[in-house]
Amino acid sequence: MAHKTTDYDVTIVGGGIVGLACALSLACENYSVHVLEAGEPQQVRTNNHPSFDDRTLVVNPASQLFWQQLGIWPELAAHSTAVNRVHVSQQGRFGTVRFAHDELNVAHLAHVVEAKVLGRILWQQVTKHHNISLSAPAQLTEFSAAKEDVLVQYKSDSSVKSHRSRLLLAADGARSWVRQKLGLTAITKNYQRTAIIANVVTELPHNHCAYERLSASGPMALLPFHDRMGLVWTLPEQQAQSMLQADDKEFTTALQQAMGYRLGRISRIGQRSSYPLYRITVPQQYKKRVLLMGNAAHTVSPVSAQGLNLGVRGIQRLTASLVNARNNNRDIGSDQVLSDYHNKSWPDQQAILQYTDDLMTWFKLDQPIINQLRSLGLLLVDSSPGLKNRLYRLAGGLSEVS
Ligand SMILES: Cc1cc2nc3c(=O)[nH]c(=O)nc-3n(C[C@H](O)[C@H](O)[C@H](O)COP(=O)(O)OP(=O)(O)OC[C@H]3O[C@@H](n4cnc5c(N)ncnc54)[C@H](O)[C@@H]3O)c2cc1C
Repeated sequence: MAHKTTDYDVTIVGGGIVGLACALSLACENYSVHVLEAGEPQQVRTNNHPSFDDRTLVVNPASQLFWQQLGIWPELAAHSTAVNRVHVSQQGRFGTVRFAHDELNVAHLAHVVEAKVLGRILWQQVTKHHNISLSAPAQLTEFSAAKEDVLVQYKSDSSVKSHRSRLLLAADGARSWVRQKLGLTAITKNYQRTAIIANVVTELPHNHCAYERLSASGPMALLPFHDRMGLVWTLPEQQAQSMLQADDKEFTTALQQAMGYRLGRISRIGQRSSYPLYRITVPQQYKKRVLLMGNAAHTVSPVSAQGLNLGVRGIQRLTASLVNARNNNRDIGSDQVLSDYHNKSWPDQQAILQYTDDLMTWFKLDQPIINQLRSLGLLLVDSSPGLKNRLYRLAGGLSEVS
C-alpha cells in the first residue's frame, strides 16, 4: 500500500509499549511500518529498558481484548494475576466501595502484568513481523513534511540515515521531543506529589483483591501480583523523599500505618522507585503528517491505572481510521484523516484525565463536613449497583466515547 515515493506507510518514533503495540496493530492490517527506538535491544533482554521496568500495570477488560486480537494474550496471561475484587476505602474514616466480579457478572475485573514482561513480548513479536522494520538504537534527529510524505532522519550505528513515509507517529513519551519540535502546546499540571512503587509481601494472601485507599496525602493502590502486592503510594514530595531514604524498618512502619492491617503484617518490602506525578494535556495532537500517540499525547497519574489503557484505545481508533482511509482512497497522513481520529479520541481522553484528576485532588480537602459527604458518597456508590456498573465500565474501558 506504500505510495510510490515512500519507503514505509508509517514511521513510529518510540518503541515503548505504545509504539510497539501500534506497530503490530498497523502491521496486522498490512501497513508497512518502521519503528525507531533510542534504547538498546540488549536493555530489553536484560530487563534494563527504562520503558519496560518493574512497574505493575492493570490491564482492563478492553485492553485484554486488544492484546487477544494481537495474539499475545496467551503468553501475557501466563505471567498475569487476575483481579476479582476491588476494595476502595478512606484512611481513618467510614465509607467503603466494593466491586466484585460475580456481582458485575464478569469473569474478572482486570489483570495485573509487569511492564517488563509486556515490553519483552511485544519486542519479540515486532522483530518477527514481516511488515515491521525495527531500528534500535536509533534516535530521531530531524523530520520534515512535504506534500505527499514526511522525510525522517535518524542516527543509528554512528551514521545518519533517512527514509520517507506517509505518516509519522510520535510515541516518544511524556517529554516528547517531536511534540516540542512541532510547537504543539502541552499543558502540564504538577500535583506536587510523588508515587513510590515497590513490591510488598504481606502476612495474609491477597485473594485476588486490589485495594485503593484514599487519604489527604493522596491515594494508595495495592495490586495483587503473584504472591505479593504491587504498591503505588502517593505522597507529598518532601514526605516521599524521606520515605525513599528511610531504611526498610522505618519505611515498613510508616506503610503499615497507612495501609492498615487488612492484609496482616508486612513481612517484606522490595526495592523502592519513584515517579513524579503530573498530568499533561495536549489540545492539538497532530500537525503536518505527524500524530502524537500514548504518553506524548496524554499523560495521567498512575494512581488511576489508566495511562496505557487509554493509549491502547487510541491505537485501536487509529487503526480503524487508517483502514477506513485506505478503503476510501484517502491519504493516511492527511489532516482530514488525522483530525477525524483526534475528534473521536478527545472526549475519551478528557473523561480519563478528569477521572484521574478527581482521584488526585478530591481527597486533598480535609474538612469535617467534606469528609462526611465523601463518606456518604462512598456508601451511596456501594449501595447502588447502577453507579458501580457505570464506574466499572469507565475504568474497564467499556464505556469509551468513540
Ligand atoms: C508507576 C506507574 C504505574 C502505571 N500503572 C499503569 C496501569 O496500571 N495501567 C495503565 O494503563 N497504565 C499505567 N501506567 C502508565 C503506562 O505505563 C504508560 O502510559 C505507558 O507505559 C506509556 O508508554 P509510551 O510508549 O507512550 O511511552 P514511554 O514508555 O515513555 O516510551 C517512549 C519511548 O520513546 C523512545 N524515544 C524517545 N525519544 C526518542 C527519539 N527521539 N528517537 C527514538 N526513540 C525515542 C524512548 O526510548 C521510549 O522507549 C503506569 C505508569 C507508571 C509510571
